[in-house]
Amino acid sequence: MNFDTVLMVDWSGGNDRGPRPTKDAIWLCVARDGRAEEPRYMRNRQVAEDWIAAFLTGETTAGRKTIVGFDLPFGYPRGFAQALTGQDNAFAVWQWFEDRIEDSPQSNNRFDIAGEINRKFGGAGPFWANALQRDIEGLPRTKAGYENPFPDRRRAETRAQGAFTCWQMAGAGAVGSQVFMVLPVLSRLRRRFGASVWPFEPLTSDVAFIEIWPSLTLGAAPAHMIKDAWQVREVARTVSALTPEQLAEVLDVDAPEEGWIFGLGHEALLKEAAKLPPRLSNSCFALPPGVHWTPVAEALEALKTRLAPVTGISETPIAQAAGLVTARDCIAQRSNPPLPNTAVDGYGFAGGRAEGLHRMPLAETRAAAGDAPATLPAGQAMRVLTGAALPQGVDTVVLQEDVTVSDGQVAFQGPIKQGANTRKAGEDVVAGDVAVPSGVRIKAADVALLAATGVQTVETYAPLRVAVVSTGAELVDAGQPARAGQIYDANRPMLIELVRVWGHIPVDIGIVPDDREALAQQLSRAAREADVIITSGGASAGDEDHVSALLNDAGSMSLWRIAVKPGRPLALGMWDGVPVFGLPGNPVAAMVCALIFARPSLARLAGEAWPEPQGFDVPAAFSKNKKPGRSEFLRARIRQGRAEVFASEGSGRISGLSWAEGLVELPQEAASIKPGDPVRYMPFGSFGL
Ligand code: AMP
Ligand code: MG
Repeated sequence: MNFDTVLMVDWSGGNDRGPRPTKDAIWLCVARDGRAEEPRYMRNRQVAEDWIAAFLTGETTAGRKTIVGFDLPFGYPRGFAQALTGQDNAFAVWQWFEDRIEDSPQSNNRFDIAGEINRKFGGAGPFWANALQRDIEGLPRTKAGYENPFPDRRRAETRAQGAFTCWQMAGAGAVGSQVFMVLPVLSRLRRRFGASVWPFEPLTSDVAFIEIWPSLTLGAAPAHMIKDAWQVREVARTVSALTPEQLAEVLDVDAPEEGWIFGLGHEALLKEAAKLPPRLSNSCFALPPGVHWTPVAEALEALKTRLAPVTGISETPIAQAAGLVTARDCIAQRSNPPLPNTAVDGYGFAGGRAEGLHRMPLAETRAAAGDAPATLPAGQAMRVLTGAALPQGVDTVVLQEDVTVSDGQVAFQGPIKQGANTRKAGEDVVAGDVAVPSGVRIKAADVALLAATGVQTVETYAPLRVAVVSTGAELVDAGQPARAGQIYDANRPMLIELVRVWGHIPVDIGIVPDDREALAQQLSRAAREADVIITSGGASAGDEDHVSALLNDAGSMSLWRIAVKPGRPLALGMWDGVPVFGLPGNPVAAMVCALIFARPSLARLAGEAWPEPQGFDVPAAFSKNKKPGRSEFLRARIRQGRAEVFASEGSGRISGLSWAEGLVELPQEAASIKPGDPVRYMPFGSFGL
């Protein structure tokens, strides 16, 4: 049972909820591969139905199979379908409602329809509760005198703790109205897309509808999120994280006519699936066939579109959040400043003043930072201190240096503009705005902003664990005796430090000799202990290039021949479900490729927005004739406003890396650079160093 896309829908029986996202409205969320998009708010059913139809059209056109979850029972308790429609079939009930329900954003006839049904069965049930002013014949307002000829609950609801009965049409927790208002929509969408509906029919169509009750497996929503928005997101993410086998297992139920709740009896499985971080597909590094040399920009674009966060999300108090990556937009809970206040020490009054001398009586009270806003009698001025909330009746402040005070009078010269020396409420951030967006590695300033806007916890990604492996029979750990023919491992300490500086957790796997079996073992260990693996050495196509050979055998390798110097091919692939970045062995090439390719890729895997290193044009202090066909990155630094480059371009010259403070990037085309010509310089700071 395999679906590409999950759409979770939280329906609502109420009227139009207005343009601003609120609770008890309709919320939707799309997820793919265990990764959810931001929840979407729909102000009313008409908007939601149009959106769902357009979305399903897009998905089916793109050849994607989609499973749509609705948080409502698809059927009524046993016997109702037969009694209402003459058929013991849920779709007959859907059609019955589609034929009768009238719905607009402002009103609908659901209570009248409930009354109509009740009157068929004697007028005392099965539906009860009426939220309208007017009485409806046959629809009891309370349970007094209520009689239900049908079972109170479906078989599924007798097993699901806390599930509500579908007969209650209004009041706390009632789902009756929502069912009325969703069945016509389900009926139309089913017809339009030829959807298969679970559990009434086999899910053979490209669109499947399933009934999901989020509270079955979800706990309480985090305080900063609207519950419905959070629920659709969590459910969509979890369902899309299930393997085809798990999905088939959960969907294997027999419940004709009444329907069933997705996951009932499989709660533990769903809770476990909810904890799993999303995985990358095995084909995420595949390159278009037949490409010989991929330009740098194209390689980066491919990585950018295919990589996605791979670590789990949890809620973190802001005091512990610095250095972690925001997994969701952080919404300001409070405006900054929360109230209008004074920007200076001075005297507050109302209305600004024209040219000339002004004199006002000084009020006895004063307003200091932290005081609750006082009230100023009309015509007076009040002593105010920086940060104090403006008293009622004050909208302008004159600086204390511009004032004389004597005999209980304040005097100053105009003009003073109304509003001078004050800060408006929310002039920095308004409550409800995004304070810090998702994908940001939280820094000191972000913590300040989160604190100021009343955010207590943020959703963050777990730090990315990055395994670092060096390969080569010639390598020895620093500090160990080295025989003739051996060299010290320079790449591993360098890469470990880069990983650390970029905010990830390095996992040191050590040196692996040029031995395929040993390397396979260490890669598997790395895949268990980390979320991504970086190797150096052995990445080309030679006899001793075991990284590329192993990834090739695993069937998941792409040798990215990127048109870059220093470079050699990058071996990108998956090992035991974990992405592997096979960097070249030459330390200069390893570092340049790490900065250009591994850094943004790791950032993306860690949940950060894709970073674009910023460069700027400076005059060259060197001459160079460059051949066409490859981008080149030269070790460089700025002296006297000009870019110097390291004397040798040899890619084993580690001293040049240490000498450099940045890179000069020369584009793919041929170039003849003379001193004074502009070249693009990117300081190492642009690469997060
Ligand atoms: P390879 O990519 O394995 O063919 O290695 C290319 C060159 O880089 C060879 O001269 C290696 O000895 C050297 N090299 C490979 N790995 C390292 C390392 N970790 N530290 C220093 N040099 C290395
Ligand atoms: Mg080697």
